[in-house]
Parts: sequence; structure tokens; C-alpha cells
Amino acid sequence: MAQLILIVEDEPSIAELISINLTHAGFTVARAFQADEALFMMRSISPDLIILDWMLPGKSGVQFAKELRANPASQSLPILMLTAKGEEGDKVVGLDAGADDYVTKPFSPKELAARVKALLRRHSPLVPEQKVLSLGPMQLDSVSHRLTIAIPNSDPKNIALGPTEFRLMQFLMSNPERVHSRTHLLDNIWGNDAYIEERTVDVHIKRLRASLSPYDCDRFVETVRGSGYRITKNPVET
Ligand code: CA
Repeated sequence: MAQLILIVEDEPSIAELISINLTHAGFTVARAFQADEALFMMRSISPDLIILDWMLPGKSGVQFAKELRANPASQSLPILMLTAKGEEGDKVVGLDAGADDYVTKPFSPKELAARVKALLRRHSPLVPEQKVLSLGPMQLDSVSHRLTIAIPNSDPKNIALGPTEFRLMQFLMSNPERVHSRTHLLDNIWGNDAYIEERTVDVHIKRLRASLSPYDCDRFVETVRGSGYRITKNPVET
């Protein structure tokens, strides 16, 4: 399914150019004209990558990149920064702020699309090489399809999960600390099936938690009100 790119650019002609080219390259595109608008949109969408203009009205792209990096929900979000020619000498500042790559204006739209693809490859969400995922006392083995929970002073416990709960857990553990909207989870776990409702996600999260709760591990799967779900190794104490 199409990956979602959020473009934060205040110049409509440039935003339009990028948008058209990325759409042609097979991406889904969302657009914001400034940082605050982007932040607001990210409460309901989970972009796979953000294209961020350096010079924005209000909060600068550099400042916004720093904030995204400081927030656990977005710290692993790939950021590609756009800089005008005169700012090229400042690219180090942009990379220091947390950008993963930068492109100098004026740019070739083809090159930009290639850079987006390359950056997404580096940040590919499901890492097949990583066969065992760990979080807190939990270990998920993607080869044997087994979830194991370490129990103090006892043998580890194998937890039986349904295939959807397993995939859900695999996706969450591959992308820890990040908030995933229901739509994002549907796209990544169920694929692009128009007949599945967002409520389905809640049902499977509930089942997953029920499997984890006897071992006090359901607390790692957090509901983020108004946004979706995340798995975290530092759950909020209740
Ligand atoms: Ca600008």
C-alpha cells in the first residue's frame, strides 16, 4: 500500500510540484503550510516520512525537526529537509537538528523522489533481518512466531497469539514508542482492504491485551487518546 509523505512547505507552487511528483511515484501525500498545522495533522495521520522546508512562517523547519526528534512518538520519523541555495552552508545545522537528509532548492523532482525512496528504505518499518524483537520482559520471535515473556524466578512463558494479534504485536514492537493511528495500523497489518472498519483494530488490541494481562504486560500497549496506539517500554503508571 502507498506510503504517506507529509510535505511541510509554505510556497504553494513548490508544495504542488513535490506533491504531483510523489503521487506519480506511487506515494500518498498530505500537505501542511507550516509546522503547527503539520503537528495538528499528525494527531490523526502517521506519515512514513516528512519533507520539511527550512524556512517556514512561524516555527522554522529546523526548530520543528528538533521538536519531532525530542518527541518519542516521532523520534524515528524520517525527515528530509529542503533548503534554499543560500542556506546550503547551514546543512550541518539541519542535520544536527535531526534531519536525515536534505535537498537544495531548486531541485529536480525526480531526484527528490529518489531521495525519498532511499530514505524510506533505510527506515523500513518491518526489519526482516531482525528476527527477535524485545521490549521489556517480552520477546517476539518472527521465525517461530512465538511471544515469550520473562517471569521473575521462573521459566519464561510462551504466549499463544492469534495471527492478527501476532502481526499487530510484530508491527508495534518493530516501531516502538511511536503512535500509530488506526488507519495506519489497518494499512500496515491488514493491507488496503476497504471493507475493514477502524473498530477492528480496537477489537484486536483488546484481544492482544487480554493475552498479555495475566503477566502484567498489557500495560506496555498504550492507548493514545484521539490518536491511536503505541507500544512503549516506559508505560505510564496507573
Ligand atoms: Ca519556505
